[in-house]
Amino acid sequence: MKNVAILGATGSIGLNTLAVMSLHPEKYNVFALTANNSWREMEKLCIKHMPKFVVMANEEAAESLRKVVPEGVIVLQGEGALNDIASHKNTDFVMAAIVGSAGLSSTFAAVTSGKRVMLANKESLVLGGNLLVAAAKESGAELIPVDSEHSAIFQCLQGGKQGLNKIQLTASGGPFLKTPIAELNKATPKQACAHPKWKMGQKISVDSATMMNKGLEVIEAHFLFQLSSSKIEVVIHPQSIIHSFVYFNDGSVLSQLGLPDMRSAISYALSYPSRQTSGVEELDLTKQTSLEFLSPDMDRFKCLGLAYDALEQGQSSPGTLNAANEVAVDAFLNKKIGFLDISKIIEKTLAIAPISRLDTLASVVENDYLSRQIARSVIEPSLS
Ligand code: NAD
Ligand code: MG
Repeated sequence: MKNVAILGATGSIGLNTLAVMSLHPEKYNVFALTANNSWREMEKLCIKHMPKFVVMANEEAAESLRKVVPEGVIVLQGEGALNDIASHKNTDFVMAAIVGSAGLSSTFAAVTSGKRVMLANKESLVLGGNLLVAAAKESGAELIPVDSEHSAIFQCLQGGKQGLNKIQLTASGGPFLKTPIAELNKATPKQACAHPKWKMGQKISVDSATMMNKGLEVIEAHFLFQLSSSKIEVVIHPQSIIHSFVYFNDGSVLSQLGLPDMRSAISYALSYPSRQTSGVEELDLTKQTSLEFLSPDMDRFKCLGLAYDALEQGQSSPGTLNAANEVAVDAFLNKKIGFLDISKIIEKTLAIAPISRLDTLASVVENDYLSRQIARSVIEPSLS
Protein backbone atom coordinates (compact mmCIF):
# COMPACT_ATOMS: atom_id res chain seq x y z
CA MET A 1 0.00 0.00 0.00
CA LYS A 2 1.43 3.39 -1.02
CA ASN A 3 0.59 6.53 0.92
CA VAL A 4 -0.12 9.27 -1.62
CA ALA A 5 -0.08 13.02 -0.95
CA ILE A 6 -1.91 15.03 -3.59
CA LEU A 7 -0.76 18.65 -3.71
CA GLY A 8 -3.45 20.63 -5.54
CA ALA A 9 -6.14 18.00 -4.88
CA THR A 10 -9.11 20.21 -5.82
CA GLY A 11 -7.75 20.96 -9.29
CA SER A 12 -8.18 19.15 -12.57
CA ILE A 13 -5.10 16.91 -12.13
CA GLY A 14 -5.78 16.40 -8.42
CA LEU A 15 -9.34 15.17 -9.01
CA ASN A 16 -8.24 12.91 -11.86
CA THR A 17 -5.59 11.43 -9.55
CA LEU A 18 -8.23 10.64 -6.95
CA ALA A 19 -10.37 9.05 -9.69
CA VAL A 20 -7.54 6.71 -10.76
CA MET A 21 -6.61 5.88 -7.15
CA SER A 22 -10.25 5.02 -6.38
CA LEU A 23 -10.05 2.22 -8.97
CA HIS A 24 -7.22 0.60 -6.98
CA PRO A 25 -8.00 0.99 -3.26
CA GLU A 26 -5.82 -2.03 -2.43
CA LYS A 27 -2.73 -0.25 -3.81
CA TYR A 28 -3.10 3.42 -2.83
CA ASN A 29 -4.08 5.23 0.34
CA VAL A 30 -5.17 8.90 0.27
CA PHE A 31 -2.71 10.07 2.92
CA ALA A 32 -2.86 13.85 2.42
CA LEU A 33 -4.74 16.37 0.30
CA THR A 34 -3.92 20.04 -0.18
CA ALA A 35 -5.56 23.07 -1.80
CA ASN A 36 -5.31 26.83 -1.84
CA ASN A 37 -8.62 28.24 -0.54
CA SER A 38 -11.45 26.08 -1.89
CA TRP A 39 -12.42 24.64 1.51
CA ARG A 40 -15.96 23.66 0.57
CA GLU A 41 -14.62 21.50 -2.24
CA MET A 42 -12.05 20.10 0.19
CA GLU A 43 -14.76 19.27 2.73
CA LYS A 44 -16.42 17.02 0.13
CA LEU A 45 -13.10 15.33 -0.67
CA CYS A 46 -12.45 14.73 3.05
CA ILE A 47 -15.85 13.07 3.53
CA LYS A 48 -15.25 10.84 0.51
CA HIS A 49 -11.56 9.95 0.98
CA MET A 50 -10.85 10.47 4.72
CA PRO A 51 -7.20 11.63 4.37
CA LYS A 52 -5.04 11.72 7.49
CA PHE A 53 -3.88 15.27 6.73
CA VAL A 54 -5.25 18.24 4.82
CA VAL A 55 -3.32 21.43 4.13
CA MET A 56 -4.99 24.65 3.05
CA ALA A 57 -2.48 27.25 1.84
CA ASN A 58 -4.89 29.97 2.92
CA GLU A 59 -5.22 30.44 6.69
CA GLU A 60 -8.89 31.50 6.75
CA ALA A 61 -9.82 28.57 4.51
CA ALA A 62 -8.07 26.23 6.95
CA GLU A 63 -10.08 27.71 9.84
CA SER A 64 -13.37 27.30 7.98
CA LEU A 65 -12.51 23.73 7.04
CA ARG A 66 -11.55 22.79 10.61
CA LYS A 67 -15.10 23.51 11.75
CA VAL A 68 -16.72 21.08 9.31
CA VAL A 69 -14.18 18.36 8.64
CA PRO A 70 -14.97 14.76 9.73
CA GLU A 71 -13.33 13.58 12.97
CA GLY A 72 -9.85 12.15 12.47
CA VAL A 73 -8.81 14.50 9.63
CA ILE A 74 -6.04 16.87 10.73
CA VAL A 75 -6.18 20.30 9.06
CA LEU A 76 -2.92 22.23 8.69
CA GLN A 77 -2.20 25.55 7.03
CA GLY A 78 0.43 27.45 5.05
CA GLU A 79 3.41 26.71 2.82
CA GLY A 80 5.49 25.24 5.67
CA ALA A 81 2.82 22.60 6.25
CA LEU A 82 2.70 21.84 2.50
CA ASN A 83 6.43 21.14 2.61
CA ASP A 84 6.08 19.04 5.77
CA ILE A 85 3.44 16.86 4.11
CA ALA A 86 5.45 16.53 0.87
CA SER A 87 8.44 15.30 2.88
CA HIS A 88 6.54 13.44 5.64
CA LYS A 89 8.18 10.14 6.60
CA ASN A 90 4.94 8.26 5.89
CA THR A 91 4.40 9.84 2.44
CA ASP A 92 5.48 7.47 -0.36
CA PHE A 93 4.21 9.20 -3.51
CA VAL A 94 3.64 12.92 -4.08
CA MET A 95 1.42 14.20 -6.87
CA ALA A 96 2.82 17.70 -7.53
CA ALA A 97 -0.27 19.32 -9.08
CA ILE A 98 -0.31 22.85 -7.69
CA VAL A 99 -0.54 25.38 -10.51
CA GLY A 100 2.31 27.82 -11.13
CA SER A 101 5.39 28.78 -9.14
CA ALA A 102 3.36 28.29 -5.93
CA GLY A 103 4.20 24.60 -6.40
CA LEU A 104 7.98 25.03 -6.39
CA SER A 105 8.74 24.79 -2.70
CA SER A 106 6.62 21.68 -2.01
CA THR A 107 7.89 19.94 -5.16
CA PHE A 108 11.42 20.66 -4.00
CA ALA A 109 10.62 19.31 -0.51
CA ALA A 110 9.30 16.08 -2.03
CA VAL A 111 12.34 15.70 -4.29
CA THR A 112 14.93 16.38 -1.59
CA SER A 113 13.30 13.82 0.70
CA GLY A 114 13.57 11.08 -1.94
CA LYS A 115 9.90 10.51 -2.76
CA ARG A 116 8.33 9.29 -5.99
CA VAL A 117 7.36 12.69 -7.40
CA MET A 118 4.63 12.55 -10.03
CA LEU A 119 5.27 15.87 -11.68
CA ALA A 120 2.35 17.79 -13.17
CA ASN A 121 3.63 21.17 -11.96
CA LYS A 122 5.87 21.86 -14.97
CA GLU A 123 6.50 25.39 -13.72
CA SER A 124 8.76 24.09 -10.93
CA LEU A 125 11.10 22.51 -13.50
CA VAL A 126 11.06 25.69 -15.60
CA LEU A 127 12.01 27.73 -12.52
CA GLY A 128 14.56 25.46 -10.92
CA GLY A 129 15.21 22.59 -13.33
CA ASN A 130 18.92 22.18 -12.62
CA LEU A 131 18.40 22.26 -8.87
CA LEU A 132 15.51 19.79 -8.96
CA VAL A 133 17.30 17.31 -11.20
CA ALA A 134 20.46 17.48 -9.08
CA ALA A 135 18.43 17.10 -5.87
CA ALA A 136 16.63 14.04 -7.27
CA LYS A 137 19.96 12.46 -8.17
CA GLU A 138 21.27 13.04 -4.67
CA SER A 139 18.18 11.89 -2.78
CA GLY A 140 17.19 9.03 -5.10
CA ALA A 141 13.77 10.61 -5.73
CA GLU A 142 11.93 9.33 -8.81
CA LEU A 143 10.82 12.19 -11.04
CA ILE A 144 7.97 10.78 -13.13
CA PRO A 145 6.37 13.08 -15.67
CA VAL A 146 2.60 13.51 -15.65
CA ASP A 147 2.40 16.02 -18.50
CA SER A 148 0.96 13.84 -21.28
CA GLU A 149 3.71 14.61 -23.83
CA HIS A 150 6.49 13.95 -21.33
CA SER A 151 4.80 10.81 -20.07
CA ALA A 152 4.66 9.67 -23.71
CA ILE A 153 8.38 10.31 -24.21
CA PHE A 154 9.22 8.72 -20.85
CA GLN A 155 7.27 5.62 -21.95
CA CYS A 156 9.02 5.55 -25.35
CA LEU A 157 12.42 5.82 -23.66
CA GLN A 158 12.00 2.79 -21.39
CA GLY A 159 14.52 1.03 -23.66
CA GLY A 160 17.06 3.83 -23.03
CA LYS A 161 18.27 6.92 -24.90
CA GLN A 162 20.89 5.16 -27.01
CA GLY A 163 20.56 6.22 -30.67
CA LEU A 164 18.15 9.05 -29.89
CA ASN A 165 18.23 11.85 -32.50
CA LYS A 166 15.47 14.19 -31.32
CA ILE A 167 12.06 14.40 -29.68
CA GLN A 168 8.95 16.11 -30.99
CA LEU A 169 6.30 17.40 -28.59
CA THR A 170 2.78 17.39 -30.00
CA ALA A 171 0.55 20.40 -29.40
CA SER A 172 -3.17 20.74 -30.06
CA GLY A 173 -2.77 24.36 -31.21
CA GLY A 174 -5.48 25.39 -28.73
CA PRO A 175 -8.74 27.22 -29.43
CA PHE A 176 -7.18 29.93 -31.64
CA LEU A 177 -5.31 27.78 -34.14
CA LYS A 178 -7.29 29.16 -37.04
CA THR A 179 -8.64 32.47 -35.66
CA PRO A 180 -7.42 35.44 -37.77
CA ILE A 181 -4.56 37.11 -35.85
CA ALA A 182 -6.29 40.52 -36.19
CA GLU A 183 -9.22 39.17 -34.14
CA LEU A 184 -7.10 37.74 -31.34
CA ASN A 185 -6.87 40.85 -29.20
CA LYS A 186 -10.63 40.75 -28.75
CA ALA A 187 -10.43 37.17 -27.46
CA THR A 188 -12.09 36.82 -24.04
CA PRO A 189 -10.88 34.66 -21.12
CA LYS A 190 -13.91 32.42 -21.70
CA GLN A 191 -12.94 31.84 -25.34
CA ALA A 192 -9.28 31.29 -24.40
CA CYS A 193 -10.25 28.72 -21.75
CA ALA A 194 -12.53 26.75 -24.10
CA HIS A 195 -9.91 24.19 -25.07
CA PRO A 196 -11.03 21.97 -27.95
CA LYS A 197 -9.53 18.73 -26.60
CA TRP A 198 -8.47 18.89 -22.94
CA LYS A 199 -10.43 19.92 -19.82
CA MET A 200 -7.92 21.76 -17.63
CA GLY A 201 -7.50 24.54 -15.06
CA GLN A 202 -7.77 28.16 -16.27
CA LYS A 203 -4.07 29.05 -16.25
CA ILE A 204 -2.90 26.11 -18.35
CA SER A 205 -5.88 26.65 -20.69
CA VAL A 206 -4.72 30.20 -21.44
CA ASP A 207 -1.16 28.88 -21.78
CA SER A 208 -2.47 26.43 -24.38
CA ALA A 209 -4.17 29.23 -26.29
CA THR A 210 -0.91 31.26 -26.46
CA MET A 211 1.15 28.07 -26.82
CA MET A 212 3.24 29.18 -23.85
CA ASN A 213 2.19 25.81 -22.47
CA LYS A 214 4.24 24.14 -25.22
CA GLY A 215 7.09 26.58 -24.59
CA LEU A 216 7.13 25.63 -20.90
CA GLU A 217 7.00 21.98 -21.99
CA VAL A 218 10.06 22.41 -24.22
CA ILE A 219 11.95 23.68 -21.16
CA GLU A 220 10.46 20.89 -19.03
CA ALA A 221 11.66 18.31 -21.60
CA HIS A 222 15.14 19.85 -21.63
CA PHE A 223 15.52 19.20 -17.89
CA LEU A 224 13.68 15.87 -17.72
CA PHE A 225 15.44 14.21 -20.64
CA GLN A 226 18.67 16.26 -20.58
CA LEU A 227 18.43 17.32 -24.23
CA SER A 228 19.56 20.57 -25.84
CA SER A 229 16.87 22.81 -27.35
CA SER A 230 18.00 21.88 -30.88
CA LYS A 231 16.83 18.31 -30.19
CA ILE A 232 13.37 19.35 -29.00
CA GLU A 233 10.81 20.20 -31.68
CA VAL A 234 7.12 21.05 -31.59
CA VAL A 235 4.49 19.82 -34.04
CA ILE A 236 0.83 20.80 -34.03
CA HIS A 237 -1.51 17.82 -33.98
CA PRO A 238 -5.07 19.14 -33.45
CA GLN A 239 -6.64 15.73 -32.69
CA SER A 240 -4.38 15.17 -29.62
CA ILE A 241 -4.29 11.40 -30.17
CA ILE A 242 -0.52 11.06 -30.52
CA HIS A 243 1.19 12.41 -27.41
CA SER A 244 4.73 13.01 -28.81
CA PHE A 245 7.42 11.31 -30.90
CA VAL A 246 10.93 10.04 -30.28
CA TYR A 247 13.23 9.82 -33.33
CA PHE A 248 16.14 7.34 -33.38
CA ASN A 249 19.19 7.21 -35.67
CA ASP A 250 18.09 3.99 -37.40
CA GLY A 251 15.06 5.74 -38.88
CA SER A 252 12.66 4.45 -36.22
CA VAL A 253 10.18 6.81 -34.61
CA LEU A 254 8.37 5.76 -31.41
CA SER A 255 5.24 7.40 -30.10
CA GLN A 256 2.51 6.81 -27.54
CA LEU A 257 -1.14 7.15 -28.50
CA GLY A 258 -4.35 7.44 -26.54
CA LEU A 259 -7.51 9.48 -26.09
CA PRO A 260 -6.84 12.95 -24.67
CA ASP A 261 -7.49 12.06 -21.04
CA MET A 262 -4.95 12.81 -18.30
CA ARG A 263 -5.90 9.70 -16.32
CA SER A 264 -3.61 7.58 -18.58
CA ALA A 265 -0.47 9.56 -17.73
CA ILE A 266 -1.49 9.88 -14.05
CA SER A 267 -2.10 6.14 -13.84
CA TYR A 268 1.28 5.34 -15.39
CA ALA A 269 3.04 7.65 -12.92
CA LEU A 270 1.32 5.81 -10.07
CA SER A 271 1.89 2.24 -11.33
CA TYR A 272 5.29 2.67 -13.08
CA PRO A 273 7.03 0.49 -14.16
CA SER A 274 3.93 -1.69 -14.48
CA ARG A 275 0.51 -0.74 -15.82
CA GLN A 276 -3.01 -0.78 -14.43
CA THR A 277 -6.51 0.25 -15.51
CA SER A 278 -7.10 4.00 -15.47
CA GLY A 279 -10.75 4.30 -16.45
CA VAL A 280 -9.79 5.69 -19.88
CA GLU A 281 -11.72 4.30 -22.80
CA GLU A 282 -9.77 2.30 -25.37
CA LEU A 283 -8.68 4.18 -28.47
CA ASP A 284 -10.42 3.15 -31.68
CA LEU A 285 -8.40 4.51 -34.60
CA THR A 286 -11.11 3.59 -37.10
CA LYS A 287 -13.23 6.32 -35.46
CA GLN A 288 -10.56 8.98 -36.14
CA THR A 289 -11.28 10.54 -39.49
CA SER A 290 -7.78 11.96 -39.86
CA LEU A 291 -4.63 12.72 -37.92
CA GLU A 292 -3.05 16.04 -38.98
CA PHE A 293 0.40 17.48 -38.31
CA LEU A 294 1.48 21.10 -38.93
CA SER A 295 4.48 23.25 -38.10
CA PRO A 296 3.62 25.96 -35.57
CA ASP A 297 3.22 29.50 -36.97
CA MET A 298 5.77 31.43 -34.89
CA ASP A 299 4.10 34.80 -35.70
CA ARG A 300 0.83 33.60 -34.26
CA PHE A 301 2.39 31.84 -31.28
CA LYS A 302 5.06 34.33 -30.18
CA CYS A 303 5.20 32.82 -26.68
CA LEU A 304 6.65 29.62 -28.10
CA GLY A 305 9.57 31.53 -29.63
CA LEU A 306 10.11 33.44 -26.38
CA ALA A 307 10.35 30.16 -24.49
CA TYR A 308 12.97 28.77 -26.90
CA ASP A 309 14.94 32.03 -26.54
CA ALA A 310 14.78 31.85 -22.74
CA LEU A 311 15.99 28.25 -22.79
CA GLU A 312 18.91 29.23 -25.06
CA GLN A 313 19.73 32.14 -22.75
CA GLY A 314 19.62 29.81 -19.73
CA GLN A 315 20.36 30.81 -16.11
CA SER A 316 17.48 32.91 -14.72
CA SER A 317 15.73 33.49 -18.07
CA PRO A 318 13.30 30.52 -17.99
CA GLY A 319 12.25 31.57 -14.47
CA THR A 320 11.74 35.15 -15.62
CA LEU A 321 9.71 33.96 -18.60
CA ASN A 322 7.52 31.89 -16.28
CA ALA A 323 7.00 34.70 -13.76
CA ALA A 324 6.08 37.22 -16.46
CA ASN A 325 3.70 34.69 -17.99
CA GLU A 326 1.94 34.03 -14.68
CA VAL A 327 1.48 37.77 -14.08
CA ALA A 328 0.30 38.39 -17.65
CA VAL A 329 -2.13 35.44 -17.68
CA ASP A 330 -3.60 36.60 -14.38
CA ALA A 331 -4.04 40.13 -15.80
CA PHE A 332 -5.69 38.67 -18.91
CA LEU A 333 -8.06 36.47 -16.85
CA ASN A 334 -8.99 39.59 -14.85
CA LYS A 335 -9.63 41.47 -18.11
CA LYS A 336 -6.87 44.04 -17.45
CA ILE A 337 -5.00 43.29 -20.68
CA GLY A 338 -5.83 41.85 -24.10
CA PHE A 339 -4.84 38.39 -25.31
CA LEU A 340 -2.02 39.63 -27.56
CA ASP A 341 -0.57 41.71 -24.71
CA ILE A 342 0.47 38.50 -22.92
CA SER A 343 3.47 37.87 -25.21
CA LYS A 344 4.36 41.59 -25.32
CA ILE A 345 4.56 41.78 -21.52
CA ILE A 346 6.73 38.66 -21.35
CA GLU A 347 9.05 39.97 -24.06
CA LYS A 348 9.46 43.35 -22.32
CA THR A 349 10.03 41.73 -18.92
CA LEU A 350 12.73 39.47 -20.37
CA ALA A 351 14.41 42.51 -21.95
CA ILE A 352 14.47 44.44 -18.65
CA ALA A 353 15.19 41.70 -16.08
CA PRO A 354 18.83 41.10 -15.20
CA ILE A 355 20.16 37.61 -15.98
CA SER A 356 21.64 35.89 -12.97
CA ARG A 357 22.97 32.49 -11.88
CA LEU A 358 20.48 30.56 -9.77
CA ASP A 359 22.33 28.13 -7.51
CA THR A 360 19.94 27.91 -4.58
CA LEU A 361 16.20 27.61 -4.03
CA ALA A 362 16.30 31.04 -2.37
CA SER A 363 17.83 32.62 -5.50
CA VAL A 364 15.15 30.97 -7.68
CA VAL A 365 12.41 32.37 -5.42
CA GLU A 366 14.07 35.81 -5.41
CA ASN A 367 14.27 35.86 -9.21
CA ASP A 368 10.60 34.85 -9.43
CA TYR A 369 9.67 37.71 -7.08
CA LEU A 370 11.74 40.34 -8.90
CA SER A 371 10.52 39.22 -12.33
CA ARG A 372 6.90 39.48 -11.16
CA GLN A 373 7.53 43.02 -9.98
CA ILE A 374 9.02 43.92 -13.37
CA ALA A 375 6.11 42.31 -15.23
CA ARG A 376 3.60 44.23 -13.09
CA SER A 377 5.44 47.49 -13.77
CA VAL A 378 5.32 46.68 -17.50
CA ILE A 379 1.55 46.16 -17.28
CA GLU A 380 0.86 49.26 -15.19
CA PRO A 381 1.52 51.94 -17.87
CA SER A 382 -0.75 50.08 -20.29
CA LEU A 383 -3.54 50.45 -17.73
CA SER A 384 -3.29 54.23 -17.49
P1 NAD B 1 -6.11 23.76 -11.45
O1 NAD B 1 -6.20 25.25 -11.49
O2 NAD B 1 -7.29 22.97 -11.90
O3 NAD B 1 -5.77 23.32 -9.95
C1 NAD B 1 -4.73 23.88 -9.22
C2 NAD B 1 -4.64 23.31 -7.81
O4 NAD B 1 -3.58 24.01 -7.13
C3 NAD B 1 -5.89 23.51 -6.97
O5 NAD B 1 -6.07 22.42 -6.10
C4 NAD B 1 -5.58 24.76 -6.14
O6 NAD B 1 -6.27 24.82 -4.92
C5 NAD B 1 -4.08 24.62 -5.93
N1 NAD B 1 -3.41 25.91 -5.77
C6 NAD B 1 -3.54 27.00 -6.57
N2 NAD B 1 -2.78 28.02 -6.12
C7 NAD B 1 -2.17 27.57 -5.00
C8 NAD B 1 -1.29 28.18 -4.04
N3 NAD B 1 -0.90 29.46 -4.14
N4 NAD B 1 -0.86 27.42 -3.01
C9 NAD B 1 -1.28 26.14 -2.86
N5 NAD B 1 -2.13 25.52 -3.72
C10 NAD B 1 -2.57 26.23 -4.76
O7 NAD B 1 -4.81 23.35 -12.26
P2 NAD B 1 -4.54 22.03 -13.12
O8 NAD B 1 -5.09 22.19 -14.48
O9 NAD B 1 -4.91 20.82 -12.32
O10 NAD B 1 -2.95 22.10 -13.27
C11 NAD B 1 -2.09 21.78 -12.20
C12 NAD B 1 -0.67 21.66 -12.74
O11 NAD B 1 -0.62 20.56 -13.65
C13 NAD B 1 -0.19 22.88 -13.54
O12 NAD B 1 1.16 23.08 -13.31
C14 NAD B 1 -0.43 22.47 -14.99
O13 NAD B 1 0.47 23.09 -15.87
C15 NAD B 1 -0.14 20.97 -14.91
N6 NAD B 1 -0.80 20.18 -15.96
C16 NAD B 1 -2.16 20.15 -16.03
C17 NAD B 1 -2.79 19.42 -17.01
C18 NAD B 1 -4.30 19.32 -17.07
O14 NAD B 1 -4.82 18.56 -17.91
N7 NAD B 1 -5.05 20.02 -16.24
C19 NAD B 1 -2.02 18.73 -17.97
C20 NAD B 1 -0.63 18.78 -17.88
C21 NAD B 1 -0.03 19.51 -16.86
MG1 MG C 1 1.08 18.79 -21.84
